[in-house]
Amino acid sequence: VRGLTRVFDVSKPWLNRVLERLPKSYLTAVSDVSFEVEEKSVYALVGESGSGKSTIGKIVVGLVPPTEGTVEIEGVDLSRETDAAKVDRIRSDVQMIFQDPYASLNPRWRVRDIIAEPVAARGGETAGLAERLLEQVGLSAADASKFPHEFSGGQRQRLCIARALASNPRVIVCDEPTSALDVSVQAQVLNLMSDLRQELGLTYLFISHDLTVVQHMADRIGVLYLGRLVEEAPRDTLFEAPAHPYTQMLFAAAPRMDAFGREVEPPKGEIPDAINPPPGCAFHPRCPLAIERCSVERPEMRTLGETRVACHRAEEAVRRFRAEPATAE
Ligand code: SF4
Ligand code: MG
Repeated sequence: VRGLTRVFDVSKPWLNRVLERLPKSYLTAVSDVSFEVEEKSVYALVGESGSGKSTIGKIVVGLVPPTEGTVEIEGVDLSRETDAAKVDRIRSDVQMIFQDPYASLNPRWRVRDIIAEPVAARGGETAGLAERLLEQVGLSAADASKFPHEFSGGQRQRLCIARALASNPRVIVCDEPTSALDVSVQAQVLNLMSDLRQELGLTYLFISHDLTVVQHMADRIGVLYLGRLVEEAPRDTLFEAPAHPYTQMLFAAAPRMDAFGREVEPPKGEIPDAINPPPGCAFHPRCPLAIERCSVERPEMRTLGETRVACHRAEEAVRRFRAEPATAE
């Protein structure tokens, strides 16, 4: 993913088209986001609601086009590739699992048809497919003749995973796959996803508001704030020495977020506005380390050891974190 920019992302396509004609400086959902997901690894994108993480997921699977920037999958830039068969093949290599398993399963279809649909739509062989996939996701082959309402929330997310696997994908974009589930069920679904990744050699782009959810899954983590990538590091590095004050705040604030990543009790400072972010470093109104420079000069992404970070005072932030690690209150 290189230089991804998306001016706006709302659920109404016509409104998107209207908003896109406005000057970019007024509306930006995602701005100049670049990162690389290594094959067979898990890359987690973390950020609060409104940080642009779902928009990036939708761009990667091709549900919305970027305003600027490119997404290369298996070395192919799908927005420029002209060979339709090639684009089609790579598109089917990338599947998406959504947050709400209730909304993404057709209630009038039997599970067998739901799971096999992506393959049937391409004219592929579907005999026994649903039964095999049901067993692979920890359900039973006999479930194939049931309807979605006969399953629990966790089981329905397993159905969504089975449907995503039907096309034999290589990459799965998972947008908050467990945040609509009970805490007791979350771990089971995450474990299943880990196991499947090992077995099938899958690559995940895992989108979440919750650092503790991605802790066990991710190899690399990117942190988004108001549509920009502010920090990126290998998992262990990020947990040992988060270098951006916002990442440090996410560690401290995790218990104060609800299931959808909305702040239950917002920290002090202005409420962030992704449409019209503050000048300089967009985090400066909430940042405990902010200095005058921060409100005028936007920090560029730079390298600090194994970390990429966009903060003028990253060294100081790491030093302070080491001296007094953020604790969940
Ligand atoms: Fe805080 Fe300044 Fe760093 Fe932004 S650039 S995170 S305001 S210290
Ligand atoms: Mg979202």
